[in-house]
Amino acid sequence: MIIDTHTHIFVEQFDRDREEVVRRAKAEGVEKFLLPNIDAGSISALKNTVAAFPGEMFPMMGLHPTSVKENYKEELTAIEKELSEGKYYGIGEIGMDYYWDTAFASEQQKVFRIQLNWAKETGLPVSIHIRNAFDEVLKIVEEEQDGRLKGVFHCFTGTYEQALQAIDLNMWLGIGGVVTFKNGKIDTFLNRIDIKHIVVETDAPWLTPAPFRGKRNEPAYLKYIIEKLARIYHTTSGEIACLTSHNAMDIFGELP
Ligand SMILES: [Zn+2]
Repeated sequence: MIIDTHTHIFVEQFDRDREEVVRRAKAEGVEKFLLPNIDAGSISALKNTVAAFPGEMFPMMGLHPTSVKENYKEELTAIEKELSEGKYYGIGEIGMDYYWDTAFASEQQKVFRIQLNWAKETGLPVSIHIRNAFDEVLKIVEEEQDGRLKGVFHCFTGTYEQALQAIDLNMWLGIGGVVTFKNGKIDTFLNRIDIKHIVVETDAPWLTPAPFRGKRNEPAYLKYIIEKLARIYHTTSGEIACLTSHNAMDIFGELP
């Protein structure tokens, strides 16, 4: 059994063929899907997808850093309300992104910290997005870590040293399509990181692994990520699937 620990199959890119996409994923052994929310505007699509596939979709609730704008307070209010009313398996997608826009950098930090505190209060794990802001994210997680935080540095693309820093803070590394890229770099040191710190994810519809780079991503393509990890760790795909699914359940629970 394989768990896609970070996938957005509720977004409109899958509206035409979502059932087919899930069917193809299951044919590759991907049976459980963790769905990180994006912002208040994506909540209804997220809930519809969860309802359409009972027992297979496990939603998270949070405000994505690229959706942090002038109206972030209203966004947070809507998301906090939803979090308190619905059944959620994590706080996500949260984090910081200085790649697209730094106009709301200080708001992003504030919103990130607030959501880390929701995680501490609820006991839920976090799914953290980082782009061009590793040191800033690390500093905040370090300050907020009081033993109650755990989660995933989703789509980890940092260095060996940064991987160790993340692990030190009780975070797992979410490995996706980047591990298959020629210039992805993380494949050069992952074999020095114990597999117990790794989970797999697609971030579909984005970050498509080779050989489909540039096309829409989907959970069935976890196969290529797992095959690459099997080569890195000199083991079988089955072993990687089994170990990383166990890790995912250590973070997110049994996912019944
Ligand atoms: Zn994502």
